Amino acid sequence: MPDAILSLSHITKQFGSLLASDDVTLDLRPGEIHALIGPNGAGKSTLIKQIAGEIKSDSGDIHFNGQQINELDAVARSRMGLARTFQVSSLMPEFSVLQNVMLARQSVSGKVFRFFRPVLGDKSLVEPAMAQLERVGLANRAQMRAADISHGERRQLEMAVALALEPKAFLLDEPMAGMGPEGSKRLTGFLDSLRAQAPILLVEHDMDAVFALADRISVLVYGRIIATGTVDEIRGNEDVKRAYLGE
Ligand code: ADP
Ligand code: MG
Repeated sequence: MPDAILSLSHITKQFGSLLASDDVTLDLRPGEIHALIGPNGAGKSTLIKQIAGEIKSDSGDIHFNGQQINELDAVARSRMGLARTFQVSSLMPEFSVLQNVMLARQSVSGKVFRFFRPVLGDKSLVEPAMAQLERVGLANRAQMRAADISHGERRQLEMAVALALEPKAFLLDEPMAGMGPEGSKRLTGFLDSLRAQAPILLVEHDMDAVFALADRISVLVYGRIIATGTVDEIRGNEDVKRAYLGE
């Protein structure tokens, strides 16, 4: 798989007697949205956590951007450009929406570690940060405190912050969860535009979004990938219908 940005080969993870990842092999290629779907408890989040470096696999290899990253911790993986969004801890609640994005951009510039001495007077950061907010549909919230925006808006802001860090790949675990239909629709449009910038491994229960967005879909059931294919291939797959999609 020379052109994959991220690849997992033969990943296993056991919790006691439960095999949460059972010999999982999958990859993420440039420009694609690869959706990972499956019933609750299938092991989707466990897989995302192993990729992000939050939990250690029992066996198997993970390669990212040409490097084997098995032994790297979550911070090192995120520095390499592996973005895991929707961690509320990535936001600074007392700062404005705009300032949160400015701080993220500052850390990219390499001059300032974002949790110390934020230099918010740097006007050159305002314009690109506003552009980022416009992309995620949050420009009209720029001056509000991050603590005061809605749950759905906070997720949009986390996305803008992640974007500002210029990642090479995104890991998204149920980004639509808790969003209303309008928020989901907006996020779907945004993710569609995002894939050109960095490919996305997308765990999502909202099948309308998955079918609209995914270049490929992998179906995880009891820790095993039972099928990988295009939207049409997965919709027509009898094993998948039985295990997850229903008739
Ligand atoms: P999904 O995200 O597909 O709903 P998870 O990856 O969260 O599934 O969980 C897969 C299985 O592993 C579930 O049975 C869950 O209860 C179990 N599990 C997840 N994390 C742990 C843990 N830290 N310790 C023990 N069991 C866990
Ligand atoms: Mg989950």
